[in-house]
Amino acid sequence: MSDPDKIPPFIELGIIDSHAHLMQEYFKDSLDEVIERTFARKVVQMVNPAVIVNNAEELLELCQKNPNIYMALGQHPHEAKDWTDNDASKLNEKLSHEKIVAVGECGLDFFYNHSEREVQLNVFREQIKLGKKHNKPVVVHWRDAWKDCLDILKEETDSHLRGVFHCFTGGPELLPEIEALDFYVSFSGILTYKTAKDIQEAAKLVKKDRMLVETDCPYLAPIPMRGKQNEPSFVWWTAQKLADLRGMTLEETALAASENTRRLFNLPGV
Ligand SMILES: [Zn+2]
Ligand SMILES: [Zn+2]
Repeated sequence: MSDPDKIPPFIELGIIDSHAHLMQEYFKDSLDEVIERTFARKVVQMVNPAVIVNNAEELLELCQKNPNIYMALGQHPHEAKDWTDNDASKLNEKLSHEKIVAVGECGLDFFYNHSEREVQLNVFREQIKLGKKHNKPVVVHWRDAWKDCLDILKEETDSHLRGVFHCFTGGPELLPEIEALDFYVSFSGILTYKTAKDIQEAAKLVKKDRMLVETDCPYLAPIPMRGKQNEPSFVWWTAQKLADLRGMTLEETALAASENTRRLFNLPGV
């Protein structure tokens, strides 16, 4: 749970957590309290990505209760093995919902390989196609699968393909390929870790109008909250690190990241 002595350096202007898993499973009885603290600390909007298509009902209920919480719907590569035709038609049907602002998270994870590679590749491609059909961006999770991920996205490129590489863990050498796709890059708490030199180099160089911040909570809390359960209000620590790396103020960084998140997910202002 969060440490009340360590309040993040937030500013009134606000910021958006572009990727926060706000689910009962992770937060149990504290979910309402966490959401309340999030808004009090000026995280003004959040995007809550599904890990399986069948999260739709729970996540939609939370969106209905909170006008400033949005969601993405999709199947995580770990769960690709359970993907069925029913999931595909349910996703297709739900994507017209106004609070479902993206497809995801989806992608390729060849580090854990919880699902077979061939299956992951097919399920990723199907979801990309649905995103394009509904003109909604894809929230891409990738681990140890950069080349395959890029190949699919290049093959699927057209005027409707948009998206973000969430929880970015690559180095600056990936940026030209990302720029060619015109995708966004989202930094998580990992950016604040001492060992994250490559990610920090990338954070200095990514285009100002293509950078986002996220918590990916409940895991990967940024320094100085590392080891605690992560929550959306901690996104400010990541934004502060991004600001320091780029020689920007926290205010400029929050403003840019928020504008970028709204542009990508087509969110209204608050
Ligand atoms: Zn992910
Ligand atoms: Zn995630």
